[in-house]
Amino acid sequence: MKADAYGLGINTCVPVLRDAGASVFFVAHWSEVAAVAAHADPATIAVLHGPINAAEADYAIATGVIPVINSIGQAQLWQERGGGLCHLMVDTGINRLGISAPQISELIIQALKVDTLLSHLASADEDSGLNARQLEAFRGVLPQIAHRRASLANSAGIALGPDYAFDLTRPGLALYGGIARPELAGTIRQVAHVGAAIIQTRELSAGDSVGYNSEFTAGAPMRVGTVSLGYADGFLRARGKGGFMLHGETELAILGKVSMDMIVVDLGKVPELRAGDWLEVPFVLRNAAQQSTVSQYELLTTLGRRLRG
Ligand SMILES: *Cc1c(COP(=O)(O)O)cnc(C)c1O
Repeated sequence: MKADAYGLGINTCVPVLRDAGASVFFVAHWSEVAAVAAHADPATIAVLHGPINAAEADYAIATGVIPVINSIGQAQLWQERGGGLCHLMVDTGINRLGISAPQISELIIQALKVDTLLSHLASADEDSGLNARQLEAFRGVLPQIAHRRASLANSAGIALGPDYAFDLTRPGLALYGGIARPELAGTIRQVAHVGAAIIQTRELSAGDSVGYNSEFTAGAPMRVGTVSLGYADGFLRARGKGGFMLHGETELAILGKVSMDMIVVDLGKVPELRAGDWLEVPFVLRNAAQQSTVSQYELLTTLGRRLRG
């Protein structure tokens, strides 16, 4: 559920996922807890970053939300503040958060009451040898600490097969229509679509220019539409140049710079369009580059709040 359910909105997504049977709702930050707790039992909410000070540990205890413990320091803090049920992240090769495998035997770790023992895959979206090495390392730590459930796979990890599933999977991207590996392409359907309204139309004369810094100048009279969508909605300036909006299959070219709240498009191909008509914003996750420029993850999480339907 982190990053406001990958940009699609906790209020929209959590009730649907809860009713569909999701058993744990992971967020990254403590500031994300309250929004999820409006829809789900606090005991089903987990905070991936864990507590970094007493206030965060106390907040977890007061609310009944379960922290993910990621280090010896967090384990000490958690026990000092009263402790209780927690999740435990073990690093098996991504080197972001988590105790290292040898630290599992430390007394302060062994003293934890672990609900779910977690690790996170670094390259599940690739056919990398690291996947099998992480799986093996994770299997190695499982017998070394008491826990209720084990969890390794993110969306891409689910597609690596049942060996990676353990007791609990942690899909993010796949819930929101992203395709983390080609094996999932036939299974996952896009669930988020972006539209924007034309809010004014105008006739330009030859020589009239459009938008900030006059980057587009009409060579002949033309009809244009101002569309209620801008970089504050996640439609970044980089997508303006050479970009287009869609009316059905018809591509309407973006003219000039993307503003904070508006873009201007050429209506020459569809002269009947009027203020109040809606255009589609090209937003095809499967076309997004996997690892360069803008990923599916970035397309989703940069969607502006004003786009919520
Ligand atoms: C974000 C995250 C996930 C979900 O990853 P996806 O690739 O979106 O499925 C799972 N586990 C952890 C620890 C994460 O940080």
